[in-house]
Amino acid sequence: MLKVEHIGIAVKDLARSIPLFEKLLNTPCYKQEAVASEQVTTAFFRQGETKIELLESTDPQGVIARYIEKKGEGIHHIAFEVADIEAEMQRLQGEGFTLLNTTPKQGADNKLVCFLHPKGTNSVLIELCQEKKG
Ligand code: ZN
Repeated sequence: MLKVEHIGIAVKDLARSIPLFEKLLNTPCYKQEAVASEQVTTAFFRQGETKIELLESTDPQGVIARYIEKKGEGIHHIAFEVADIEAEMQRLQGEGFTLLNTTPKQGADNKLVCFLHPKGTNSVLIELCQEKKG
């Protein structure tokens, strides 16, 4: 894996959290993007090599809404950038990790993504992401 690409943080209300993180990081939110397949709206901040991704649910039954209901707001996942997502998925599956999707799917910020089941990763939700080419 190449680096920590971003850290995903589940929030209840982007309208409240965006200005908070702008103040905290002293940098403007550079992108907001809805990801319909995940029922979220995302907001991104650059911090050196790494990004912060805020996630707000667009659906009360969505995965982020259910996460907040159970655990409250906070760190939701860590995303690692990989050069070849399919090769990395195959490698991790070979190592016994459980993939939550068997083919890469479209993520926010022009990425192909795959999540690992947190049961196999000390309860940390891990995202693999690869920049889409072209
Ligand atoms: Zn993410």
